[in-house]
Amino acid sequence: APPHIAPTHAPAPRRAPDELAAHLPEGKTRLWRPKRIVIAKAAAGTAVAAQAARVGAELGAEVVHLSGNTVRGLKGESEAETYRRAKSTLAIVQAPPSALKLQPIPPSADFRLDLAVGCPAHCQYCYLAGSLSGPPVTRAYANLGEIFAVLPDYLGQGRITSGTQARGHEGTTFEASCYTDPLGIEHLTGSLSAAIEHVAGMHQEGAEIGLRFTTKYDAVAPLLTLQHGGRTRARFSVNAEIVTRLFEGGTAPLGARLAAMGRMAAAGYPVGLTVAPIMPVEGWQDAYDALLSRTAAVLPEGADLTVELITHRFTPGSREVLMGWYPATKLEMDPGVRAQKRNKFGGVKYVYPKALMDEMKGWFGEAVRARLPRASVLYWT
Ligand code: SF4
Repeated sequence: APPHIAPTHAPAPRRAPDELAAHLPEGKTRLWRPKRIVIAKAAAGTAVAAQAARVGAELGAEVVHLSGNTVRGLKGESEAETYRRAKSTLAIVQAPPSALKLQPIPPSADFRLDLAVGCPAHCQYCYLAGSLSGPPVTRAYANLGEIFAVLPDYLGQGRITSGTQARGHEGTTFEASCYTDPLGIEHLTGSLSAAIEHVAGMHQEGAEIGLRFTTKYDAVAPLLTLQHGGRTRARFSVNAEIVTRLFEGGTAPLGARLAAMGRMAAAGYPVGLTVAPIMPVEGWQDAYDALLSRTAAVLPEGADLTVELITHRFTPGSREVLMGWYPATKLEMDPGVRAQKRNKFGGVKYVYPKALMDEMKGWFGEAVRARLPRASVLYWT
C-alpha cells in the first residue's frame, strides 16, 4: 500500500451470509462485499465510518484508515485493473462543499441530495459513465448532519412538485439516487435509513418534503421498520428480464427487486417503478409486458405506485468510457442507428429515432394503463 495508507485490520475471513450479525439484512439478498473500506481522516469517528468499518470487516474487507483525506491507490497497471480496484472499494469521506449546494434535477425530483457518489454495480450502460471523473470508486459521505442541515433552505422552491398536481402532495422532493445506488451500500453506511427518518421527522414538524431513491438492489429489511411517515418513495429500477440478465452485473435479480418493492409497499412506503433503460430488444413488447404483469402480482392492494419510463441513450463521452470498461459488451451503442438530441449547452446525446420512440411511448402508455391501472406515469423520456 502507498505510504499514506495505514491498514489497521488484516482482512477478516469471509463468513457465510447466515453467520453475519443481525444488523445485516437477511442472507438471501444481494449484498455488495467490497474488498477494501477506506476511511478518510476527516470522516473518522462518524457513525457512517463506524458502520462501514464494522460491517465491512465482517464481510471480509480490509479496513484502511487514511492519514489524510485524499483517496489514492486506486490506479492499477491497466484500465481494467483500475476499474476492478475502484469498483471493489468503498471510501468514507466528507461531502465536499459543492454537495451542500443542491442542484435541481428534473424530471426525477426537485433537487439532488447526494449521500454518496459512485456505485458498486456493473451495468454496461451505466448512467454514471462519463459524468464522474477518475476511477469509479464509491464514496459515501460521512457528514450527514451537515447534508441534512441544508434541506430547509430548499423547501418550497421545487419546480416539479409545486408545478404538477400529480406530485404536489409530496412537497419539495429530494432525489438520493442521482450518482449512486443508496440501497446497494446501505448495509455499509446506514445513510439511507438516516435520511428516511430525518425527512419523516421534518415532515412531522410541518415541512412539506419528500425523499426519493431508486435501486437495483433488494436488501430492504432494515428499511421496513423505520419511522418513514410515508415521505420516502422507494423506486425500483427494473427492466425486461433479458436486459437485466445481459447488462446489469452485480445487481439483485429482477424477481428479488420486485419482491422487495412488494415488501416496501406492504410496509406503507409509496413505491415506484423506474423502467430504465428501455431498449427495443427482440420481442420487447412481450418482455416488458411480462415485467408489468409481474409488478402487478407483487403489489399489495391499494399500493401507491408511480412509473418513470426512460429510454436508453448515450453520449460520445459515456460511450467511450463504457467501451473501455466493458470492451466485450453486446449493448448497442451505434450512433449510426440513433437520432441526435442536443442539450442547451450544445452537448449531443444519442437516442432512438423518432418513429421508434413514438411507437414505444404509445405502447408503454397503453400497457401501463392495462397492467397497472392505478399507477401514475410521471414521465417518458
Ligand atoms: Fe450505474 Fe445505476 Fe448500474 Fe450503478 S445501478 S452501475 S449507477 S446504472
